[in-house]
Amino acid sequence: MDLKQFVTIVPDWPKPGIKFKDITTLMDNGEAYRYATDQIVAYAREKQIDLVVGPEARGFIIGCPVAYAHGVGFAPVRKEGKLPRETIKVNYGLEYGSDVLTIHRDAIKPGQRVLITDDLLATGGTIDATIKLVEELGGIVAGIAFLIELTYLDGREKLDGYDVLTLMQY
Ligand code: 5GP
Repeated sequence: MDLKQFVTIVPDWPKPGIKFKDITTLMDNGEAYRYATDQIVAYAREKQIDLVVGPEARGFIIGCPVAYAHGVGFAPVRKEGKLPRETIKVNYGLEYGSDVLTIHRDAIKPGQRVLITDDLLATGGTIDATIKLVEELGGIVAGIAFLIELTYLDGREKLDGYDVLTLMQY
């Protein structure tokens, strides 16, 4: 299936000059959403993962159905102040300024094989921060899966040494 036909390119959103890849039209289509999920589930099987971890909010949309289908848990990575119990946190750089991502301290058991998911790899900053959280808790990043990779932003360079699956490239 050609998944790109289900992605809507929105010009000048959220800022002039950006061509936003809107995946809601892919999720809207049951066959396309299932097909994309199935590709990542097959990858999760191959990597023998024990847990899925994804950053809010679109990392949940990709990761939760994979966790369900593979029969493992899902641990959310969230912005600061959103998780109710003890967390660890990491600062990461944005185009302007920085932000903080957190995960519950007991979300991962040392040695667990983790699949990290998100909708899109741009500069790699979000996933680099997510990797730091997983590894600080003793998790092994067994694979990282995205629907979309923006190859011209070279996000893969930040993920050097990790196994990365992307279903579409722009
Ligand atoms: P990065 O941290 O790799 O620079 O940016 C990736 C993050 O920004 C992802 O969490 C993703 O959801 C969001 N993002 C950036 N650009 C786009 C886009 O064009 N489409 C979508 N769906 N998400 C984007």
